[in-house]
Amino acid sequence: MRIVAIRDIVSPIRSDIANAYIDFSQMTASVVAVVTDRVVDGRPVVGYGFNSNGRYAQHGLLGERFIPRLRGANPDTLLDTDGFIDPAKCWAAMMANEKPGGHGERSVAVGVLDMALWDALAKARRVPLWKLLADRYNGGVHDDRAWVYAAGGYYYPGKGLGALQDEMKGYLDLGYSCVKMKVGGVPLAEDLARIEAVLKIVGAGERLAVDVNGKFDLTTAITFGKAIEGYGLRWYEEPLDPLDYLAHGALATQYAPPLATGENLFSMQDARNLVRHGGLRPDRDILQYDPALSYGLVEYLRTVDMLRAHGWSPRRCVPHGGHQFALNIAVGLQCGGNESYPQVFAPFGGFADDCPVVDGRVALPDAPGIGFERKADLWAVMRELQPAP
Ligand SMILES: [Mg+2]
Repeated sequence: MRIVAIRDIVSPIRSDIANAYIDFSQMTASVVAVVTDRVVDGRPVVGYGFNSNGRYAQHGLLGERFIPRLRGANPDTLLDTDGFIDPAKCWAAMMANEKPGGHGERSVAVGVLDMALWDALAKARRVPLWKLLADRYNGGVHDDRAWVYAAGGYYYPGKGLGALQDEMKGYLDLGYSCVKMKVGGVPLAEDLARIEAVLKIVGAGERLAVDVNGKFDLTTAITFGKAIEGYGLRWYEEPLDPLDYLAHGALATQYAPPLATGENLFSMQDARNLVRHGGLRPDRDILQYDPALSYGLVEYLRTVDMLRAHGWSPRRCVPHGGHQFALNIAVGLQCGGNESYPQVFAPFGGFADDCPVVDGRVALPDAPGIGFERKADLWAVMRELQPAP
């Protein structure tokens, strides 16, 4: 099995929404296709990847460093003992001559290619990625469905409480039982009114999470935490700068209910610093590392091993991003669930068309690979990268 071509394009992922920190009007994503010479059912196996929302397309890094390294490597050095592509060996080739630390957004570029390599490998093996992961790394055990929650509740221009409640009603109608909303972008009293409006719709604090997107300093985070503590919310997400571990440790002494963070930590080493120095609690807190943004699944496997060694169960992991890649990982490695974006970040957000959310859980298709072909709007983008027949 050899890589014969790698194609990449930049695709818009924009919308009018904003969180407490950024708006998404200029957001883009990279989409790549790794074309191989392996033939299944008369057609070459092609693996696809894209980067998760919130970081921009990585066209420059892909074109200048990571695609040339993969294409320049001796093909035999990229294979496992059965002659299939070995994503870990591909990862090592891509990361040749990269210094440790200072991960920046190269982890996003590598993550895009890593996703495509795993998609290609699973297709060549003719199994869904979740099944391949369960068999290789989880003793053959997997979940039948993943817990998912609807992430939304963004600030839109002119959006009032009624529109926010309508949005959340819509998520419940789609089959979700837990939702998440943005906070921290308006004064505290206004956010509390928004939270109470949503609680009227979802009915219980454990069915609502709030997300600050790293906006608060420690004093503000504690003040906000004290104000919401009585609601019994599912979790209080990214209250602080994602790299300020000491502040997380301080907040955890003042806010007893669950905290969540990690979507902006892009390496196993950063993930480890959080669990070593962030004061988070393995019995309740949630880790949201996004495999598509943080060097892909090869690195995520290292992160899960690291977490186990530090007393954290994979069940505490609920990856950011709302994409099918993380959903496969959540099921195959038995994580705690996965984020979902029912209405934003199209066509990259969301899952297979024929797998609806029921009672807040979603099943995965039995399609080989990650399952992109079973999501029509995303497949319409990816199929443009297919080799001509
Ligand atoms: Mg978040």
